Amino acid sequence: MPGMDESLIAWLDKHADNLDSDTLHADALPTRLAQAGLFAVGVPESEGGDGRALSAAVDIVAGLAEHSLSAAFVYWAQRAVIACLLASPNRDLVRRLVPDLLHGRLAGAPGLSNAMKFLGGLDRLRIVGTATPDGMRLNGTVAWATNLRRQGFVAAVAVGDEHGDNPSVFALPHDVRGVVREPDLDLLALRGTNTAALRLSDVALDASWQIHPQARVFLPSIRPAFVGLQCGLGLGLARASLRTARAALDGKPSVFSGQIDTLDADRAACREALCTGLDDGGLRERPRDLLTLRLRMVDIAAAATALELQALGGRALLRGANGGYARRAREAAFLAVVTPTVAQLKGDLARLAQA
Ligand SMILES: Cc1cc2nc3c(=O)[nH]c(=O)nc-3n(C[C@H](O)[C@H](O)[C@H](O)COP(=O)(O)OP(=O)(O)OC[C@H]3O[C@@H](n4cnc5c(N)ncnc54)[C@H](O)[C@@H]3O)c2cc1C
Repeated sequence: MPGMDESLIAWLDKHADNLDSDTLHADALPTRLAQAGLFAVGVPESEGGDGRALSAAVDIVAGLAEHSLSAAFVYWAQRAVIACLLASPNRDLVRRLVPDLLHGRLAGAPGLSNAMKFLGGLDRLRIVGTATPDGMRLNGTVAWATNLRRQGFVAAVAVGDEHGDNPSVFALPHDVRGVVREPDLDLLALRGTNTAALRLSDVALDASWQIHPQARVFLPSIRPAFVGLQCGLGLGLARASLRTARAALDGKPSVFSGQIDTLDADRAACREALCTGLDDGGLRERPRDLLTLRLRMVDIAAAATALELQALGGRALLRGANGGYARRAREAAFLAVVTPTVAQLKGDLARLAQA
């Protein structure tokens, strides 16, 4: 993809399988992404970014996902936390954290799927905050968070009140007393993403760490960035699968040629609608269209890996000769279960249709 550091691409191609199946390069990955200057893409110049539109960051996610979904997802995690902070009214916190996040000196872990499920009526809030004279005392868990680098991180988390309601959003630093990062989750894929749970026991945080007092207002406001950037994950993965499928046909006429072309056109149309709607603000006004594109992205990626399998034939099931198919099939499975999951998207779309 244009503008992507070639040494980064070479590194990703060399380590993509390892990033998926092992934790060996988990800490090197965000450093590599930072060295390529990617976290500043699509961030306003006034905030230290490159001033390009948000769609430029979608293309970065897609460009990374063509080579490694682990890399694309870690990039997304960091960019999602940056997007959260940029939308925060707490300017002191923004000034304190954003420069380090943009340069990759600090890792950002978005632990917000619990809040999103809570707002969708699917879960209770897992962190309870009790007011103290100096701020809040937090207890609870974050079941999943990615980019929890062992050297340090800041996580974005939702905190409910004593009644498990009225969530607010906080930045949780790794080195405050009472925060425990659990060992990495035993994942089937994307193991090099520093994905683990957090346990919070009597964690004292003052108001200077509050990103927003009302998650109900805040989370819908960041949805275009949060969900829109995720679309790059499947669009890039699909591109890689379709390229491999085409190469497998070796220029010969095939029953798959038409399907590959149609799906590739679908992928390009999805990207176009997404990028236009993010940059002109249209998708902010049309959450239903945004969620539909997000769901379509999962379907495109799944269909592309299925075509890759069919075009490769038996080679696809040979460990040493499938050219990355096996990894991409696992990566596509992940897309269906990352928040908003297919189940959540279908539920939200049904609700919006009724409203
Ligand atoms: C590698 C990896 C990294 C992750 N990183 C992060 C991270 O950084 N931050 C983070 O917050 N989370 C992260 N997660 C968590 C993830 O994003 C999801 O929250 C989680 O996987 C999905 O939750 P769930 O299992 O409850 O699935 P869901 O799809 O929410 O629920 C499962 C079942 O619940 C039911 N259900 C769901 N929605 C509805 C509905 N609307 N109506 C009726 N029934 C419904 C259905 O039976 C569904 O099959 C990560 C996950 C993985 C695998």
